[in-house]
Amino acid sequence: MRILIAEDDATSRLLLESLLRKWGYDVVVARDGEEAWRILSAENSPLIALIDWVMPGLEGPELCRRLRAHVPNGSSYRYVILVTVRDEKVHIVKGLESGADDYITKPFDPHELRVRITAGQRVVELQEELRHMALYDSLTKLRNRRAIVDRLEEELSRSRREGKRLCIGLLDLDFFKNVNDTLGHLVGDEVLQETARRIRSSLRNYDIAGRYGGEEFLLILPGATRDDALRTLERVRIAVGGTPMATQDGSAVTVTASIGLACDDGESKPDVLVRRVDAALYRAKNDGRNRVNE
Ligand SMILES: [Mg+2]
Repeated sequence: MRILIAEDDATSRLLLESLLRKWGYDVVVARDGEEAWRILSAENSPLIALIDWVMPGLEGPELCRRLRAHVPNGSSYRYVILVTVRDEKVHIVKGLESGADDYITKPFDPHELRVRITAGQRVVELQEELRHMALYDSLTKLRNRRAIVDRLEEELSRSRREGKRLCIGLLDLDFFKNVNDTLGHLVGDEVLQETARRIRSSLRNYDIAGRYGGEEFLLILPGATRDDALRTLERVRIAVGGTPMATQDGSAVTVTASIGLACDDGESKPDVLVRRVDAALYRAKNDGRNRVNE
């Protein structure tokens, strides 16, 4: 686990750094408040931060307030321990009110520090677990509907900002209801899991897949031209329906997939793009299923 130390005093910084490394943490260091803010507000920041109260420029409590106000919804929780020489009650209350989770007073007892960091780690790990549960579908391990739609909005604005292309695919398993009705829901679940695996393994690393509905999967293909997307989705179609899926009860189930394709026109809202891909999927179904349609 990575921990940020924000401390302007070199001696304290080195002491903290060596203790944390000894306890097996990866340490990221900031020498003032602004540097700490840059690190903490980045997407992949350490999730535990030891922040000195008094630093030039941006002080600890102000940094906490900024952090709580600006970190976007859906990102990981940052657990902040304020490090302070001010142990009067009024200061402690002020520190916690600024959004810090805990505090420790200097000079600190290493054992106490270690225990407080461990408590923070428990909170961060729980938060990450909850966050994961809120974003991912427990059956297929892909993003759930809300998460994939959110991601589509982000990817769409990113690709437009960077002047890149983006296409999406909407995949629906053909006659999936028959699988559930004739083989049971357990087999149906296995088919959904195997479908997710096959989708995942036939996409490129930077493509994103989510479970959009019961047997519907939304695929985001950043940077893909129409032809790239056609090739990718055709690969997905063959991966899903090309070979039977072996299930626990010994059956071999073949399910084909119909896939709609829509590419960004550079100006439509995300829900318009989704409506277009939905219409394309509908045409793929009407044209006889087991195909990719635009
Ligand atoms: Mg200081």
